Amino acid sequence: MLRSYAFFMRLCLITLVLFCFNANAVSLSVEQEAFLAEHPVIKVSNETDWPPFDFVEQGQPAGYSIDVMHLIAARLGVKFEFVNGYSWQQLLKLAKSKQIDVIHSIQNTPDRVDYLHFSDPFFDIHSVIVTTQQQRHLDHLAALQGHKLAVIKGYAAVEQLQEQYPNIELVYFTSPESALKALALNRVNAYIDNLTTINYLSEKYLLSSLVITGEVTLNQYPKPQLRIAVRKDWPMLRDIINLALADIKEQEWIVLRKKWLSEITGEQLQSAPAADAIVDDTKVPSDVSSLHLLTPAERAYLNSKTVITMCVDPIWPPFEWINNSGEHEGIVADTMQLFSKRLNKQIQLVPSRSWNQTLAKAKARQCDIISAASATHSRQEYLDFGAHFMKLPVVVITQELPYFIGNIGQLGDKPFGIVAGYSLIEQIQAKYPSANIVEVGNVQKGLEKVANGELFAFIDSVASVSHYIREGKISNVKINGAAGLDWEIGVATRNDEPILREIFDKVTLDISPQEHDEIFNRWINIKFEHEANYSKLWPLLLMILCIIALVIYWNHKLATLNQKINSYLNLINQHVLNLKIDLQARIIESSDAFCEVSGYHPSSLQHSDFLLLFQGENTDAEQAGILAAITNQQSWHGELKYKNKNGSILITETFLSPILRRDRVTGFSVIQQDITDKKRIENITRIDELTGLFNRRHFNEIFPKERMRAKRDGKLFGFMLLDIDNFKAFNDTYGHPKGDQVLVAVAQTLQHQLNRSCDYTFRLGGEEFGVIVSGAAMDIDIMDIAYRLKEAVENLAITHTANQPYDVITISIGVQILTPDNPASQAVVYQEADDALYQAKHKNRNCVLRSL
Ligand code: GH3
Ligand code: MG
Ligand code: MG
Repeated sequence: MLRSYAFFMRLCLITLVLFCFNANAVSLSVEQEAFLAEHPVIKVSNETDWPPFDFVEQGQPAGYSIDVMHLIAARLGVKFEFVNGYSWQQLLKLAKSKQIDVIHSIQNTPDRVDYLHFSDPFFDIHSVIVTTQQQRHLDHLAALQGHKLAVIKGYAAVEQLQEQYPNIELVYFTSPESALKALALNRVNAYIDNLTTINYLSEKYLLSSLVITGEVTLNQYPKPQLRIAVRKDWPMLRDIINLALADIKEQEWIVLRKKWLSEITGEQLQSAPAADAIVDDTKVPSDVSSLHLLTPAERAYLNSKTVITMCVDPIWPPFEWINNSGEHEGIVADTMQLFSKRLNKQIQLVPSRSWNQTLAKAKARQCDIISAASATHSRQEYLDFGAHFMKLPVVVITQELPYFIGNIGQLGDKPFGIVAGYSLIEQIQAKYPSANIVEVGNVQKGLEKVANGELFAFIDSVASVSHYIREGKISNVKINGAAGLDWEIGVATRNDEPILREIFDKVTLDISPQEHDEIFNRWINIKFEHEANYSKLWPLLLMILCIIALVIYWNHKLATLNQKINSYLNLINQHVLNLKIDLQARIIESSDAFCEVSGYHPSSLQHSDFLLLFQGENTDAEQAGILAAITNQQSWHGELKYKNKNGSILITETFLSPILRRDRVTGFSVIQQDITDKKRIENITRIDELTGLFNRRHFNEIFPKERMRAKRDGKLFGFMLLDIDNFKAFNDTYGHPKGDQVLVAVAQTLQHQLNRSCDYTFRLGGEEFGVIVSGAAMDIDIMDIAYRLKEAVENLAITHTANQPYDVITISIGVQILTPDNPASQAVVYQEADDALYQAKHKNRNCVLRSL
C-alpha cells in the first residue's frame, strides 16, 4: 500500500514538472511530429501593404496576422520563412503553384478551396464603404450603382459584388494605400475594405476628408473571416496549424488586438450625417472606449437606444446586490459601469426581488440584458450567451467533516442546496442525474440550512460563501471541498436582438485582466487569478488532486481502523464488566457483559445509584475507600462484592478511574473483572472442608504476616496449639461420623470465642487446632483467651466416657507468647507450643500450659 502510494506521489510530481515546463507546447501525433521534422522551414506569405494585418515595416514582416504566425511557430517549434515583395494576386499564384507553402489572412472562397486547405478563422472581417465628405449619400452598396468603386485585385468579395451589383463600376488597385489616395483625389467615388485597415490607414495618412458611410452587406458565403491556407498536398499542416490556433489563449488575443487594432481612434474620420452621434462617441479617448471595435451597424444600433435596461441578481454578495437605496453594487455592478463607460451608453437597472424574478423579467423582455448569468439550456430560449467576464470555482459547504469532498458525485443521495434558478442546477443535473438538489431562496438561507443540519451541503462560488462566512453571519459551516465545476459568468443578452450579443462580446473581451482584478480586489480580500492566468493554477490544481488522493487514502485507512475499533468496542461490551458513572455515582452506561452477569436490565441500571449495588456486602473499610475516591475524584482499585438480582454474590476486582474532558473530571469509568469463581477456588485451597476453619496452608501464610504486624504495632504475639483429649478412644466408642461432628462443634466453639479481626483459628490436622492472637498488650490477655477456650469446649458437655475423669469432650492447650523483639523462627515457636501441649497432656489433660 505504502509503495503504491509513493509511486502515485512520484507520478503526480512528474506530471507537475511536465506541466510547468511544457506550458506552451501543442500535443501532436507521431505522424504530425514526423511531418514537422521533415519540414523544418516553411515558406509563408507576407504582404507589403495590408496594414494592420500583414505588411512590411522597416524591411520586416509586421502586423496582427504576422504576430499570429509567430505565436503558431513558437508553439510548433518550426521556422516560418516569410516571402514578400509580391502583390496579393502574385502571392495567390505562388500559393497555387506551391512556391509558397502557406498563405494567410485569406478568406475561403469557393474557387480557392480547389487549391488550398483552410484553417479555422482567426479574425472576423467587417467591410465598410469609404467615401469623401461630398458623397456621404453613398452609404450602401445599391447607392454605388453607376459609380466607380475601388477594390483590391483578388479581393474575396469581388465576384459576389459583380454578381449582385453588376452596375457598380469596379476599379482595381494593388494596395489599399493606392486605392485610398485615388479616392482622396476623386478618381473613384468610393472604396471598400475592412474597417480595421481603413481606420489604420486613415490615421496614418491623415485622410481627414474621408468618411465611413456604411457597412458592406453582401449576401456573402462563407462569412468573411481571415484564415490561414496551406498548399493542397499538405493537409496535415492545416490540422497542425488548427491545433496551434486553438491553443492561443484569450489573453494573447487581447494583447494582439491592443497592439494592432486599437491604436485608431477614428477621430480623423469624419462621420456621415446619419451617424452624427457616433462621432461624439468616438471622441472618448481610446483607453476608455470600446467603440472602435464596433461595426457601424452596431454603433447605429447603440445610438438608437436611449438606455440599455439591465436585470440583476438582487442578493448575491460580493458579486452583486441591490442596496437599501435601490442601487446596484458589487463586483458585477462595477463591471457594468465599466461597460457603460466603454460603450458610452447608460445601463439602467430594472430591480427585482429574487433571482427567479430576474429571469422572469428577462423572459418578459422587461430588460435587455442580465448583468451576470451563465448559459443553460432553458435560458437559451430567451437569452443569448457569449464571452464571460468571471470564471468562478464552485465549492461544497458542509458542517465540520472528517473528510474532504472532491466532487458532487461524492454527496451521493444526501440533500444539498443551490439557490433557486441558478444555472448550476441544470449543470449538475446533467452530470449527476440522481443528485438530491434542494432549491433555496438565497445563499444565506442555504448556509443556514447546512448550519442547522436541514441540508448536508450547499453549493456556490467560493467568493460568495466566504463573504457570508467572513462576515460572521453564519458559523458552524466550512468550505469542505470542490464541486469539480467552473461557473462561467458573463452578460446575457435578449435573443431577439442578436446585435446586442456582438456588442457585449466585444466590450467584454476588451476589458483587460488588470481591470478585472482591480474590481475584484475592491470587493474581495482574496486575490482572484484572472482566467488567462489559469495555466499557472494547473500545478496547484494537481497538488490539490494529490492531496485529495492522500485524503481518500487516509479516509480508507481510517475507515478500516474505525471498523477495527468498533469490533474491539463490541468485544469489550460483550466481555468486560464495564460501567460509566457520573460525579454523583449515578450509572450512565452499562456494558452488556455487566448486565448479563448481574442479571439487571440496562434500563433498570440507568441513573440508579452505583453505591447501592454493593452496599452491605462489603466491609466498611472497602466501602469507605471507594466513596472517598468518588468524592475526591481519584482512582481506586479493590475488590467489591455485589448482590446480583437473583441474590447471589458477584465478586469483582474493580478499577475506578476518572474520565477527563478538557482537564475536568466529568465522571468515572468502572472496569471490573469477575473474580467470583477465582475467590471460590482460593477459599477451597485455604479452608478446611469439614470445619470451615482456615487450613494449615493458610496458617503458614498468616503466621508470619500476623507476627510482623504485632512487631510493627509493638504488641504481643500469642500462638496456641489445641488438641482434643483421648479422641482416638471417642472414635472407637462412638464411631468416626460422631467424631466428625465433635470436630465441627469444637471448631465452631473456638471461632465463636475469637471474633476479633486480628484473631485466627485453624484446623492444623486431625483433632489438632491452632489459634493466633496478635495485638494483645499483656500476657494475661492471651492466657485469658486460652482458658476461655478450654472452658467453652468443656461446657459443650459432649459425652465422652473414655475421657476420664471428665466424662465429656475436653481439650488441652499449649501456649507460646512472644514479645515484639523475640527473634524465634516459626518452627521454633511451633515446637515450643507443642512442648507445652505435651506437658498439658501429662498434667491429666483438660488444661492450659504456657511454654516458659
Ligand atoms: P491424646 O489425648 O493424647 O491426644 O490422645 P488421642 O487419642 O486424642 O491422640 P491420638 O494422636 O492417639 O489419636 C488421634 C485420633 O484422632 C486418631 C483418629 O482416630 C482421630 N482423628 C484424627 N482425625 C480425625 C477425623 O478427621 N475424624 C475423626 N472422627 N477422627 C479423627
Ligand atoms: Mg493429636
Ligand atoms: Mg488428641
